[in-house]
Amino acid sequence: MIDTASLVGSGQVVPMWIGGQWLHPHGATMLPVVNPATGETIAQVSYGSAQHARDAADAARTAAEEWAAWPARRRGDLLRQAADLLDERAEEIGRLLAAETGKRVVEAVGETRFSAEYLRWFADASRQPHGAVLTPEDPKRRHLTVTSPVGVVASLTPWNFPLSIQARKVAPALAAGCTVVARASEKAPLAVLELFRAIDDAGLPPGVANVVNGPAAEQSDALLAHPAVRMVTFTGSTSVGSRLMATAANRVVRCALELGGDAPFIIFADADLDAAVEGLMVAKFRNNGQSCIGANRVFVERSVLDEVASRLAAATSRLSVGDPLGPGDPDVGPLIDVERVHAVTALVDEALGSGASWLGDAPEVPSGPCYTRPGFLLGAAETTGLATTEVFGPVAGVFPFDTDDEVVARANDTELGLAGYVYTRDPSRLWSMAERLEVGILGCNHPLPSVAFAPMGGVKQSGLGREGAHQGLEEFVETRYLSIGL
Ligand code: NAD
Repeated sequence: MIDTASLVGSGQVVPMWIGGQWLHPHGATMLPVVNPATGETIAQVSYGSAQHARDAADAARTAAEEWAAWPARRRGDLLRQAADLLDERAEEIGRLLAAETGKRVVEAVGETRFSAEYLRWFADASRQPHGAVLTPEDPKRRHLTVTSPVGVVASLTPWNFPLSIQARKVAPALAAGCTVVARASEKAPLAVLELFRAIDDAGLPPGVANVVNGPAAEQSDALLAHPAVRMVTFTGSTSVGSRLMATAANRVVRCALELGGDAPFIIFADADLDAAVEGLMVAKFRNNGQSCIGANRVFVERSVLDEVASRLAAATSRLSVGDPLGPGDPDVGPLIDVERVHAVTALVDEALGSGASWLGDAPEVPSGPCYTRPGFLLGAAETTGLATTEVFGPVAGVFPFDTDDEVVARANDTELGLAGYVYTRDPSRLWSMAERLEVGILGCNHPLPSVAFAPMGGVKQSGLGREGAHQGLEEFVETRYLSIGL
C-alpha cells in the first residue's frame, strides 16, 4: 500500500499494481519524478518493462469474466465508494498532483474532485438500460440487441491532467464491465496511483484494474500485441496517437483517441469584452497553458483590437508566476519540464523575429529552468509556429480579423479540431459559428466546457470517439444482435 502523506519530498519508491499486488518488481529500474518548480526529486518510480505490461494484461484477462458478471449496480456502488475516498483525500492528492506537475493547488484539488465526478457519473450511467427489441417484419421471428463489455482495455494517458484523464477512461471502462491495464505518463505518475488506490480501497477484485510504469512504446506495443487486449483508449499527442492506431490495426483493436488541439478563441466586436478577456485568461493560463483545449490562437475583430489588446496587456502584467506549493497562490506555475520551456521559447523567438511584440510588461518570473514568461504576442507572421502549431504553453498569438467568413476560414485552417471558443452577443452569429467551426467542443461565451455529463472529443486529427456522457460509456460496449426464429 502506498502512503500519500509521506510521498511528497520523501523520495519514496512508487510501485506498480498488477493482479491486486502493489509491487516493486524485482529487476525494475527506477525513474525519478521531479517537481518542476523546485527541481527536487519527489519520488522514484518502478520503471518496468514490456513483460510487466504482458503480466498486467494476463491479470486483466483472468479477472474479466467475473467482473463482467457483477451486476451493474454493484460495480456502480464500488465506483461511488472510490469517488467518496477521492473526495476525502482531495487536499492531500491535490498537493501531490501540484508537486509532480507544477499546476496550481486549487486546480489540482479541483482535478481530484472532478475525477470523483467521473466515477460517480459513470456509476449511474452503467445502470441505464442497454439493448433493444426491434420491430419484426416476419411474425415468426424476433430481433434483439444486447450489450457486453469490450474486454481488456489498455488506458494510456499524458501528464497534463494525469488524474482526471485516467479517471474518465477507467470509470466508464469499469462501469461497462471491462478490465483495465493503465499506463500513466512517466512525467506525472504519482497522483494517478491515488485514483487506483481509492478504487482498491473500495474493494475492487484483484486484476480488474492494473497499473504499469515503464518505457512507453515497448509497454504500449506489448499491450496492443497481447491477445486479450481488445481496445486502446489514449490521450496525448496526435503523432503518438496515430502511431498507436497503426499498431492497433495489426490486431484490429478498437481505438478511442483524444489527441492534440489548436483551439481558436474568437472575440467579435459585439462581445461583452469584460467576459471575453476574463474567459481568455482562463482558457489560456489554466494548467499553465498546457491544456489540450486551451486557447491557442486568439482572433479579435479589428474594430476592438486596440481595446482588447490593452485589456490583455493589463491583465497579463498583473499575473503572478511561482511555485504552486510555495508562499501565496500564483496564477501561473512552471511548465512540466525544460524541453517544454525550450519548445515554447522557440515559438516566441520566431514570432518576435517576424515582427511580433508582447502585450504589456513582463510579470516577475522566477529563475528556475521550468519557468517561462506568460502572455500574448501581437503581430506574429501568419507563417510562424505561433499561428500554425499547438503551443501547449502559457503564450498565444493575437490576430485581427475583419469578417465572419475570414475568421471561420482561418480558424479551420488546421488539421486539428478539438475545441474552440466564440464570444459574441449575437445569437445568430453564435449559431452560425457553432455550425461552421470544425471543432468537437465549442465554448460559447464560456471558457470551461468540461463536465462529466457532456461528450468531449475532437474532429479531424484531434481524435476518434468521445469521453464523458453516454457516448463515453458506449466506447467500452459491444452491441450484439440476436435473431430468433419462433
Ligand atoms: P505524448 O503523446 O507525448 O504522451 C502521451 C502518453 O503517451 C504518455 O504517457 C507517454 O509516455 C506516451 N508515449 C510517448 N511516446 C509514446 C510512443 N511512442 N508509444 C506509445 N506511447 C507513447 O503527449 P504529452 O506530451 O504527454 O501531452 C501533450 C499532448 O497531448 C498535446 O498534444 C495535447 O493536446 C494532447 N492532449 C490531448 C487531450 C485531449 O483530451 N484531446 C488531453 C490532454 C493532452
